[in-house]
Amino acid sequence: MRAILLGPPGAGKGTQAETIVNEFKIPHVSTGDMFRKNIKEQTQLGKKVKSYLDKGALVPDELTVEIVKDRISQVDCKNGFLLDGFPRTLEQANALDNVLSELGQKLDYVINIEVDSKLLIDRAVGRRICKDCGQTYHLLFNKPTKEGVCDKCGGELYQRKDDTEETVANRINVYQNQTQPLIEYYTNKGCIININGEQSIDKVSRDIISNLRGE
Ligand code: ADP
Ligand code: AMP
Repeated sequence: MRAILLGPPGAGKGTQAETIVNEFKIPHVSTGDMFRKNIKEQTQLGKKVKSYLDKGALVPDELTVEIVKDRISQVDCKNGFLLDGFPRTLEQANALDNVLSELGQKLDYVINIEVDSKLLIDRAVGRRICKDCGQTYHLLFNKPTKEGVCDKCGGELYQRKDDTEETVANRINVYQNQTQPLIEYYTNKGCIININGEQSIDKVSRDIISNLRGE
């Protein structure tokens, strides 16, 4: 299965990606995670993209398309993958169409997680992530058993630098201006699945999985 997770910042894409990739045994390809890893490791790419992530602006399309092209051309993506946070512009969507046609592959689904923008700031500002395994929590909606400690691996939880109220507001704006047009783009292609993302994490997961299974 080749699928995309679409939705505003804080909609629950990363949270739901975990369930979907476990269920369908496909790699999780998150451009945000790839950029953060490069920043942490201070690679050339990391140095180029840091200022964009810090501001909540989009990384230029050429850099973003390049890392996705490299990643989905790898052997573990041959039978499918889940893209999370890509594409985010119409240019990226067109570039993805071209890459897939070069690889002789077809996109199956675009899972669009719908959440009202009023809820997004609280979701993103309360997000906490394990610095060792990347597991996502929320201070109110998805608490770890012990404050500040990952249930899965015991790692320390941290807050993303771009999860401040001001930067999240900017990211929501960027989403509305640059990414939202993709909903129409993929609706016209007939592959979109709209999911109510304002329900509990478990209910959202069940809705996504049953739609993907065609139930
Ligand atoms: P995205 O990847 O779309 O930016 P995340 O999956 O990281 O979003 O979720 C953002 C925050 O909201 C996280 O702290 C997560 O635990 C929480 N969250 C995710 N889905 C829900 C939900 N259905 N209800 C309440 N909180 C949620
Ligand atoms: P995310 O982890 O999806 O919330 O993304 C975090 C940040 O990474 C975004 O605010 C952008 O700066 C950058 N980013 C992630 N994916 C993309 C993309 N497809 N295009 C441009 N920038 C991106």
